[in-house]
Amino acid sequence: MKNVAVILAAGQGKRMNSATKKQFLLINEKTVLSYSVNEFSRSDLITELIIVTSVDEIEGLKKEYCDSDSVLKPCRVIEGGKERYHSVYNALKSIDDCDYVFIHDAARPFLTQEILQHSFQEVLKYQACVTGVLSKDTVKIASADGFVEKTPDRSKVWIIQTPQVFSYKLIKRAYDSLISQEMDLINRGIAITDDAMVAETFTDVRVKLIEGDYHNIKITTPEDIKIAEVFSSRVI
Ligand code: C5P
Repeated sequence: MKNVAVILAAGQGKRMNSATKKQFLLINEKTVLSYSVNEFSRSDLITELIIVTSVDEIEGLKKEYCDSDSVLKPCRVIEGGKERYHSVYNALKSIDDCDYVFIHDAARPFLTQEILQHSFQEVLKYQACVTGVLSKDTVKIASADGFVEKTPDRSKVWIIQTPQVFSYKLIKRAYDSLISQEMDLINRGIAITDDAMVAETFTDVRVKLIEGDYHNIKITTPEDIKIAEVFSSRVI
C-alpha cells in the first residue's frame, strides 16, 4: 500500500509576529516542522513524505530532510500556494497515484504514532476521517455586528486538528472540483479552512471524526511556543 504524508509548511504565520515563520521557530532546539517530519518518517504506515513550503525554503529543506539520512523514505519538497488549499492542491497534483493521503499542518508538532494508527484504521473504513477534540469551552456563533446569535450544544462541538486522512482518489476529485469552482466560492464569501470541508462540500462521503489529542496544538501565537516547550518533553 502507498500512503503519502503531505506536510504543509508554506504559511506566512503572520499571527506569530515574528521574523521567523512559525514552522521554523525552535522548540527545545528543534524546529516546529522537524517534529512532524520525524513522526511521519518513523511511521511504518507512511511510504512517502511531501513537504510543501515557500520557494525560498525548498533547497534548504531538501538538503535537511531528503538528501540526508534524517528521513529514510522517499521525500520531496515542493512549492506551496497563496492559500492553504492551494498548497494542498499542489501536493495532490504532484502525486501519480496512491492509496491514502495524510494531510498535516507543520504548525502542529505533536502528532503521535497513536493518532496515525487510529486515523489509518478509520480511513480504511470510511475513506475520510479527521482528528479533533471536544471543545472544553462553550462556543458562541456571532452575528456580523458582534452579538450572540447561537450557542451550539457543547457536547457536539469539535475543535478540528490535523492529520486529516483521505482516500487519495476521493480527495483529489474533491480538490479538482474546489479549484474549478474557486471563484464562485470566493464571490460567495466562503473560506476553505480545512480538507474535511472540501470533502464535505464536493463529495457524498461522510467525514468521520476521531478523537485526537489535546496536546496536538497548532502553533499560532507567541504563547503557544511556551506551551509547546512544556509539551515537547513527551516527544521521543
Ligand atoms: O495559517 P494556518 O495556521 O491555518 O496554517 C495551517 C498550516 O498550513 C501551517 O502549517 C501553514 O504553514 C500551512 N499553510 C500552507 N500554505 C499556505 C498557508 C498555510 O502550507 N498558503
